[in-house]
Amino acid sequence: MNRTVDVLVVGAGPAGLAAAARLAASGAGRVEVLEREPAAGGVPRHCARPGFGADARGRPLDGPGYARRSVRAALGAGAVVRTGVSATGWAGPLTLDVTAPTGLERIRA
Ligand SMILES: Cc1cc2nc3c(=O)[nH]c(=O)nc-3n(C[C@H](O)[C@H](O)[C@H](O)COP(=O)(O)OP(=O)(O)OC[C@H]3O[C@@H](n4cnc5c(N)ncnc54)[C@H](O)[C@@H]3O)c2cc1C
Repeated sequence: MNRTVDVLVVGAGPAGLAAAARLAASGAGRVEVLEREPAAGGVPRHCARPGFGADARGRPLDGPGYARRSVRAALGAGAVVRTGVSATGWAGPLTLDVTAPTGLERIRA
């Protein structure tokens, strides 16, 4: 399947989610994030202890809490976050080959 989006982000860790949130909020169009793991959030998802910043009241966040907040921010800004989807290679300067549970895709951004 060939598809086109405005922005394609590979990896739903803190960096990808923050970029997606900012771009979606700024009106960049369809912002899609691909995450190969079954859940978004990146490494902090696996670090169940404080050390990942603080919430609005200054209480320390643990990794999973930080990951959830990052996902909420991206989704709230209008980005699409897809899990279980891996980018497998370049198909051109602006195009990636992707494998998803639904099959193979070629996505141009
Ligand atoms: C053991 C450990 C403890 C840490 N403790 C702290 C701490 O206490 N406080 C702190 O602030 N930082 C901590 N860090 C650092 C923090 O986790 C990283 O700085 C942060 O996760 C980097 O975010 P990232 O989005 O760049 O990468 P990542 O969190 O690694 O996210 C990248 C995401 O991209 C996905 N991905 C990669 N390739 C593909 C592909 N081809 N297709 C689809 N998806 C893909 C991965 O599955 C992953 O979910 C720790 C790191 C480690 C390893």
